[in-house]
Formats: sequence, structure tokens, C-alpha cells
Amino acid sequence: FPPPPPAARDCLTRIFGFADFRPSQGAIVGALCAGQDVAAIMPTGAGKSLCYQIPALVRPGTALVISPLIALMQDQVRALTGFGVRAASLTSADPADAQARTRAALERGALDLLYVSPERLATPAFQSLLATTRIALVAVDEAHCVSEWGHDFRPEYRLIRGVLDSLPNVPRIALTATADANTRADICANLGIDPANMLVAGFDRPNITYRVEPRRNPRAQITALLQKHPQASAIIYCRSRAQVDQIADALAAAGFPALPYHAGLDAPTRSANQARWAAEPGQIMVATVAFGMGVDKPDVRLVIHLGLPKSIEGYYQETGRAGRDGDPATAVTLHGSSDISRNRQWLDEIEDPARRAIEAERLAALLRFVEATGCRRVPLLAHFGDSPAPSCRACDNCLSPPRLSDLTEPARKLLSA
Ligand code: ADP
Ligand code: MG
Repeated sequence: FPPPPPAARDCLTRIFGFADFRPSQGAIVGALCAGQDVAAIMPTGAGKSLCYQIPALVRPGTALVISPLIALMQDQVRALTGFGVRAASLTSADPADAQARTRAALERGALDLLYVSPERLATPAFQSLLATTRIALVAVDEAHCVSEWGHDFRPEYRLIRGVLDSLPNVPRIALTATADANTRADICANLGIDPANMLVAGFDRPNITYRVEPRRNPRAQITALLQKHPQASAIIYCRSRAQVDQIADALAAAGFPALPYHAGLDAPTRSANQARWAAEPGQIMVATVAFGMGVDKPDVRLVIHLGLPKSIEGYYQETGRAGRDGDPATAVTLHGSSDISRNRQWLDEIEDPARRAIEAERLAALLRFVEATGCRRVPLLAHFGDSPAPSCRACDNCLSPPRLSDLTEPARKLLSA
């Protein structure tokens, strides 16, 4: 990867006000400025946005940024225009007159970055607009959404490839925080990026302390955790909509500021709850995995899993929403043996054998994590091809080695065998 050109450093300090690139940022910015494609796998909070925003300013033309959520695009556009960068979005949420202004600005070459949804990108109207526009680069954010086998598959992401291929000689970058080896291969294959151009920064989130507790009395355990983290902004992931409603009601009745979120609630309620949780300190979101993408509240201090998620990729992504600001945060899983049989059942329902094998490995990795008697970071990071420093000092097992009586039945058997 070539070093970033002087113009890129100039943008970094003059426009964004940062003293220096972070290590992976410099390499990615250098590559894109030189016209190379990149697949960037970097943890949450690493600063992925700047990796394409600076080349967007350095290279002539407008950068297209593809993002899965309107709210994400709006946040980015707001932040960029705050820095004086010429950025806009074209989404169904933008009023018609704003869209007309954006199209005119694009045609005049007066936009540095344009955020679009994948559906919009593939429309004939947008295609003809592209034909008359100079494109600096194409950035695909949350690129794991292209992987059918990932936990956030978005079929619209499969429309991106055609558009990329209609723009020869335009560098492309795919960015994500969560991609194991299978998802990484999918990203490169589906977006036409040479796997040799992949940059994988470490996966460790050193400020997150991981804990696993056997599930005895979930409500009492959750209450105790919330009392241990007073006024903490928190997310409690449940395994079903009914469980979300029960826990949210129970917490609210006990005086906690808890809000529910799941796909069974109507869209206005969901977005009102999400907005309230994001805006008010100390709010507790009780949710299914439907809550997540685009959640970038920096000060989430506590993420609780009431039961195992489906895979370790999902677990990493969900707990990764804690501590984006770099301050200490805690991720606690309340784990019961019925979780495993539920996950196995879900696995058995997968028809495609190749896919089932991948999900079986992801589940096995998750079990190695919950049943670990040593550092939990070892199985967690190993799944992503990474390894932790010896003794992480930020997981329950490193902080206080487990007693046999705390372990779940399978782990006890394993240890006493
Ligand atoms: P990601 O998308 O990787 O989760 P973001 O792009 O949202 O991360 O950036 C996370 C935070 O890091 C932002 O607040 C951003 O302003 C900050 N940041 C990014 N690059 C730098 C840098 N080189 N120096 C200091 N802060 C940075
Ligand atoms: Mg990001």
C-alpha cells in the first residue's frame, strides 16, 4: 500500500482537524488515492469513514458512498457538511426539491461525496446520471451486508456489482467491522475486489470486558447488572419478540428507563424508541437483533445477551456496539443450556450443506467462547484470525479464574473428565 499523498495529510489536518492518520487509515488512504481497490476490515470506532472521505476530497470527481441505512447516511452527511465538505444524500427520505438540488450539484461537479442507497444506485435514472458524472471512487460501507451467509444480508447489496463494473478505472473500497474468513471471501467475490487488496486490522476491542454468567433468574440478574452500572446507556438483546416485551415491561415497572425494539413494533414506534434511546442518557434498549445496524451511540456502557445469539459473528457485532468512545464497557451473556439446543435446531433447518457447515463452525466458535475457562478473547478473536495479548485483564476468566461451581453442565463435564 503506497503512503498517503501530501494532499491527503493536508485534508486530514485542515478539514477534519486530526493530527495524524491511524496506522491502517494511512495505508488505505494511500491505496485509494493511487487508484487501487481496497477491502478494509477494521473494528468499530477505528475510523473507517475517513478512509474514503479523504480520498474523496483528494481525487477529482464525486465519491459515491453506498450505505444500508438512511439514518447512517444522514448522520454522515450532517457531520461532513459541519466540516465544510460538500456532501449530500439521495434517498427516499430526502424531499423532492432537495433531491433536485442534489442532482443539479452532482451534474455541476459541485459535490465531493454523494451517499446513495443500493436500490437507488441501480435505477436507470441514477445510471444515466452517473454516465455524465465524474466519479472519484465508490465506497461500500457495511460491506458484510453483501454476504448471503452473514447475519445482515441485504439482497439489494447484490445490485452494487453491476454498477461497479459499469465504472471501470474507478477505485472501489469495501468497509466492515465484522467479517470472518467466509464473509471476507464473499465481500471480495461479490464486489469484484482482489483478495490481495484486503487489509485486516486487529479485531480486539480492548475496552470491552466480556463476561458470561449461567442464566438462573434472568430478571434478577439483569436488575443486578443494571444496578451495578447505574445510569448506563445499555442494550439488552433477547431471543424473541415476546421476551423483549416481557423484559421491557418488567424493567419499566421496576422504574428503569427501558424501551422495547423489535420487528413486530410499527416503524414509527421503532424509530421513536431508537431516537429516544440515542438522545437520552441512561436509556436501556430491550431488543431483538433487529436493533443494531446504524446504532452508533458512542457511550453504550453495557450490552447484555439474554441467551446465546445465533453465531459468533453476530455476537461480535452486537457486543461491538458497546464502548465506541473507547471508554470501558461491559458485555455480559446470560447463558443457559437450552440455548445450545435451540441453536442446533436452527442449524438443522439450514438446507444448503455448505452454508450449514459455515454456520456450524460459527456456532462452535461461540460455544468455545461461552464455555471457555481461560481468556475469552482467545476463542473470540481466533474466529476472526486474530489473537489477543496474553491475559487480557478484561474478561471474567482473566479477572478471576472460574470456580468449578460457576460453570455450566457441559463445561463441568469437560473439566472433570
Ligand atoms: P468506524 O466507522 O470505523 O466505526 P468512524 O469512522 O465512525 O469509525 O470513526 C470513529 C471516530 O474516530 C470518529 O469520532 C472519528 O472522528 C474519529 N477518528 C477517525 N480518524 C481519526 C484520526 N485519524 N484521529 C483522531 N480521530 C479520528
Ligand atoms: Mg462506520
